[in-house]
Amino acid sequence: MDWASIFIYDTSWAFAAEILLRVTVMFILIITSLRFTGKRGVRQLSIFELTIILSLGSIAGDPMFTEDLPLVQAVLIMSTVIFLYRLCTWGMMQYQPFEELLEGRSLYIVEDGMLVCNKIKQGKMSHDEFFAEMRQQGVEHLGQVRTGLLETDGKFSLLLYPSDEVSYGLPLFPKQYQAVTQIEADKYYACMYCGYVDVISNPDQVCPRCEDDCRNWAKALNSKIVR
Ligand SMILES: [Zn+2]
Repeated sequence: MDWASIFIYDTSWAFAAEILLRVTVMFILIITSLRFTGKRGVRQLSIFELTIILSLGSIAGDPMFTEDLPLVQAVLIMSTVIFLYRLCTWGMMQYQPFEELLEGRSLYIVEDGMLVCNKIKQGKMSHDEFFAEMRQQGVEHLGQVRTGLLETDGKFSLLLYPSDEVSYGLPLFPKQYQAVTQIEADKYYACMYCGYVDVISNPDQVCPRCEDDCRNWAKALNSKIVR
């Protein structure tokens, strides 16, 4: 194995110095470009913003070390990308349908303590994902949640019921999210698929709300919100 070839190959002192210069220029260019997007920082990215970041990333990285790639081309490409970004942002503010096309739209996942069935069936998000989101925001069961909205940047917005309006709901923590095999009389149970709550008589009863194959029930909780 030729170690010199792996680590050095044809790198001359002159090209090493050129790399320093190239990286410095591109570094300044990246910061300038990102400032021009008008964003203050990056927490969660929408699909559209991720596209911009990915294209900028490739354009920005290559000229740092590619000998026959003049920096002026990189400047031109980055300016074009930023121009398109600003154009799209402007278009999104003017036309709502254009915004939904690029950013997607926010989705109701929970309404009145129950999961919105057709959204789960479309596979927009798995049970696990939004259960985890809600657990992280201190929610113990769905009976505490009035509204759960999945934002376009992937964040999860929650509106909770005040303590005196909390009703029975589907537990979200693994130890309580378990299918029951025996039914106790006059106790509330929650459908493990959609969160529908009822008094049931048979652990194999079909959920009247999601109808098809849902036959799993967990013991419903009605504990208050603890903050
Ligand atoms: Zn159900």
